[in-house]
Amino acid sequence: MFDCIVIGKGLIGSAAAKYLKKYFERVAIIGPNEPLHDLEKAQVFASHYDQSRVQRTIGVDPVWTQLNKQSVAHYPKLETESGISFHSSEGCLYVSPYGKDKYLKNVPDQANQFRLPYQFFDNEEFITKAFQDYTFPSGSFGMLEPAPAGHINPLQLIKAQLKVFQNSGGEIYNDTVVNLNYDQSFSVNTSTGQTYSAKKVLVTAGAFSNFFGLLPQPLSLELESETVLLAEVSQAEAQRLSKLPSLLYELDTEAVEGIYLVQPVQYPDGRYYLKMGSNLSTDIPFQNLKQIQEWFRNGDSSGNELVLRKALHAIMPSLNTIGYTTKKCIVSRTRHGQCYIGSSGQKNQYVAAGGNGYSAMCSDALGQIAAHYTIHENVPPEYSAQSFKPIMV
Ligand SMILES: Cc1cc2nc3c(=O)[nH]c(=O)nc-3n(C[C@H](O)[C@H](O)[C@H](O)COP(=O)(O)OP(=O)(O)OC[C@H]3O[C@@H](n4cnc5c(N)ncnc54)[C@H](O)[C@@H]3O)c2cc1C
Repeated sequence: MFDCIVIGKGLIGSAAAKYLKKYFERVAIIGPNEPLHDLEKAQVFASHYDQSRVQRTIGVDPVWTQLNKQSVAHYPKLETESGISFHSSEGCLYVSPYGKDKYLKNVPDQANQFRLPYQFFDNEEFITKAFQDYTFPSGSFGMLEPAPAGHINPLQLIKAQLKVFQNSGGEIYNDTVVNLNYDQSFSVNTSTGQTYSAKKVLVTAGAFSNFFGLLPQPLSLELESETVLLAEVSQAEAQRLSKLPSLLYELDTEAVEGIYLVQPVQYPDGRYYLKMGSNLSTDIPFQNLKQIQEWFRNGDSSGNELVLRKALHAIMPSLNTIGYTTKKCIVSRTRHGQCYIGSSGQKNQYVAAGGNGYSAMCSDALGQIAAHYTIHENVPPEYSAQSFKPIMV
């Protein structure tokens, strides 16, 4: 009998498992690895199958900022303990093409409250003078966050969390949970026919938390497809751009809204790709698991390539590319805009899900809060439980 089972081996679950193991004797985490070949067999997918995620510190509100700051502060220890590096500190540039927007207006207060450094650029010329590879339209306003902002590798971050978890005696199962029963304790059934028992369960299945009866009541989550463009560059071009800060560019047109971009990094195929994504008018809202499975298995993300390429070369006209490919992902949004962390409504069962597109960079803190809630049925004192309260359908 496990003291606790974490369902979902993603960014939040792997962090939560690590923190839970500091308190409980027997902890398991169950979730499938990224399906690389037979996609028809895979039942669930994830929001982290990639080599880069933007890391900033000053978030859209003080809760996100606190989460980011706390997470980044733990990276050096996690990299040392695991021997796995996942964080790069080239900085993060935020640009609004419409002048100082609401976020930028709040930056000085947040920076002051959390003692975080930043630099404003009053117009597009100042931005391009500082970062010659970026070009923005007239009227743009920019803000640079220096190190530790930059980017993280989400797969390596998960690997690091799981290594520390395993080294401390945690158990990892590469499997998918297909059923859950509660009768004094939990019986967790998996697709390979295994059954595991636990006193407590924490569900961290991301966009898939509402499927397979993992929760007694579904969460109010909006699920949508996301397409990213991978622009292949030579090793020399990647080297040339190695100081390029990550970018959050708040363009809002009919076709493209909210661009994010990370400098070229090496992918498992040995090649170098610069990643860019955004919300698109063609993004698909999902109502059920079948639609999501269809998207990951056969969805046409390449139909979005041209619009993303155009947006990329408008920002980086001098970028020297070799080729392009697209990748499919899924985003989950909550009703109140923060991650849901709290009780599932079932005794001894808890949930942490709903990343809102921002939760890779603060997954360590979200996992820590989820673990705290699972142990104490409350959030750590520096947060308010109300901020994360799960909202059910
Ligand atoms: C294209 C894209 C770009 C993004 N860019 C950024 C960024 O730049 N910065 C940032 O901070 N955030 C970014 N995000 C958001 C971030 O990746 C997510 O918020 C984050 O992955 C959420 O973590 P999670 O643990 O909730 O979900 P996931 O990381 O998706 O993990 C959930 C895990 O649960 C598993 N699972 C599901 N169902 C089951 C089941 N039945 N049994 C067992 N396991 C199950 C899945 O396999 C998965 O591994 C981006 C997201 C996308 C899609």
